[in-house]
Amino acid sequence: MIDLQMVRAAWANRFNTDGREKLIRDYVVLLNQVVWQRQASFFAAAVLAALYFDPISTFASYALVVVTEMLDLMLARKSNAWDGRDPVVGRKILRGIAVNTVLSAVAISIFSINIAVQQTSGGHFTPLFFLFSASLFAAMYNSQMVGILLLRLSIYGAAFLFIAFLDVYRYFPPLSSPVWLEFFTIIFVLYFIVDISAKFYRNYQDRLDQMKLLEAENERTKVALEIKSQFLSTVSHELRTPLTSIIGGLDLVNNGVLGEVPENLRPVIGVAAKNGHRLASLIDDLLDLQKIEAGEIVFHLKPIDANDLVADAVESTIGYADKLGLRVATVPCGDACRFMGDRSRMIQVMNNLLSNALKFSKPGGTVTVRVETRGSRVRILVEDEGVGIPSGANERVFGRFSQVDSSDIRKVGGTGLGLNITKQIVERHHGMIDYISELGVGSTFFIEFERLTGKDGINAGASPDVASGTTV
Ligand code: ADP
Repeated sequence: MIDLQMVRAAWANRFNTDGREKLIRDYVVLLNQVVWQRQASFFAAAVLAALYFDPISTFASYALVVVTEMLDLMLARKSNAWDGRDPVVGRKILRGIAVNTVLSAVAISIFSINIAVQQTSGGHFTPLFFLFSASLFAAMYNSQMVGILLLRLSIYGAAFLFIAFLDVYRYFPPLSSPVWLEFFTIIFVLYFIVDISAKFYRNYQDRLDQMKLLEAENERTKVALEIKSQFLSTVSHELRTPLTSIIGGLDLVNNGVLGEVPENLRPVIGVAAKNGHRLASLIDDLLDLQKIEAGEIVFHLKPIDANDLVADAVESTIGYADKLGLRVATVPCGDACRFMGDRSRMIQVMNNLLSNALKFSKPGGTVTVRVETRGSRVRILVEDEGVGIPSGANERVFGRFSQVDSSDIRKVGGTGLGLNITKQIVERHHGMIDYISELGVGSTFFIEFERLTGKDGINAGASPDVASGTTV
C-alpha cells in the first residue's frame, strides 16, 4: 500500500529543494517592502491624470489597480502563514501569484492606455512614463521569479506597443513624422527594460549562488567543529584517566610513602611527576575549553562573598608561594562585597590569576590580592611585583596557546590557555577582566562583577581591620 505520508513528504522535499519556497518568500518580502511606496505613486499618478483627463474613467481604472493590490496583500498574508511544508499550498500560492500578476499588469496597462487614448496631441509621455516606472518596479522587485517577471513585462510590453501604434494607426503619418520617432523610441525603451530586467535577474541568481556556497561552507565548518570537539573530548578523557593513576603513583613514590627512594632515582622521578602534572593541567585546560566552546559548562550561580573567595583561593596557593619564596597579602573590602557566581569556577579563576602572579614574580616579592567596591561593582585585584607585560600584548595575554614571551613555556611552564579560559568564565558571569602592567615593575590583573545589594549583599566576611591587610 502506498504510504501517503511518505509521498507527501517526498513532494514537500522536492518542492523545497527546488528552492521555490525561498523564491516565494523573497518575492512576497520584496513586494511587501515597497507596498506603501507603490500605493503612493499609484495614487499620485491617479490624481494627476484625473486633473488633466476624464476623472471618472481615470478613477475607475485606478480602482482596478487598487483591487489587484489588495489581492496581492491577501496573497502575502497566505504565504506568510505557510510553513513551507505542504507543497499543495505552495503551488496554490504560486498560482495565486501568477493570476495576480496578470490582473495587476492588465489593470496598470488599462490605466495607462486610458490616458493615452484621451491624449490626442503632444505624444504620450505621461502614460508611457507610468508604464516605464511600473516595468522598472517589476524588474527590481520581481526578479526572483523569472516566469512571473516575464509575464508582467509581456503585458506591459503589449501596452507599450499599443500606445506606440495608437498614433500611427490614428494618423498614418509619413516615416519622417515625429510620431514614428516616438514609436522607435518606445521600442528602444522596451529593449532597455528587458535588458535591465535580465541584469536584476542575474544579480539575484548570483546572490542565491553565493548564499548557497556560504551555507555549504557553514555546514562544513559546523561538522568540522563537531568532529574536532568530539575528538578532543575523547582523546582528553582517554589520556586523563590513566594519567591520574600515573601521577598518583609517582607522587606516592616521591613522598616516600612506598619506602625510601634511592638517591639516584629521585631526580628522574621528580621530573616525571612534574611533567605528569603539567600534562594533566594541559588536558584539564583543553577539556575546559572544549566544554566552554560546546556550551556544556553549567554555572551554578549563588551569592559569593568576594572576601571569602579570596581567602580560600589564597590559602590554596600558600604552598606554591612558599616554594617560590614569595608572600601573598590580602586586603579585603569593608562594604558588602557579594556577587552572583559559580564558586568552583570562581576559585579556578582566582587560582589562575594567583598562579600567574606568583609564576611571573621575582623571588622575595609580594603578591597582593585586594577586594574593592566600585559603585555597583565588586572588583578583585591581583597585584604582583614581577616581570610585567609590554604594552600592546593584550591579544597574546588573553589568546589561546599564546604567551607574551614564547620562552615562558620553558622558563615557567604553562599552556597559554589559562587566561583565555578565565576570560570566558568571567564573561559568562557578565563580568569583565583586564590588567594594567609596567614592564619590570609588575602587573595588576582585575576581575569585576555586578555587586549584590539588599539582603543578599550583606557582607558577612568583612573584617574590621580592612586597610591593614593580612599576610598569609
Ligand atoms: P600560561 O599558562 O602560559 O600562564 P595564561 O593564559 O595564564 O597562560 O597567560 C598567558 C600569558 O600572559 C603568560 O604566558 C604570560 O606571558 C602573560 N601573563 C599572565 N599573567 C602575567 C603576570 N602576572 N605577569 C606577567 N605576565 C603574565
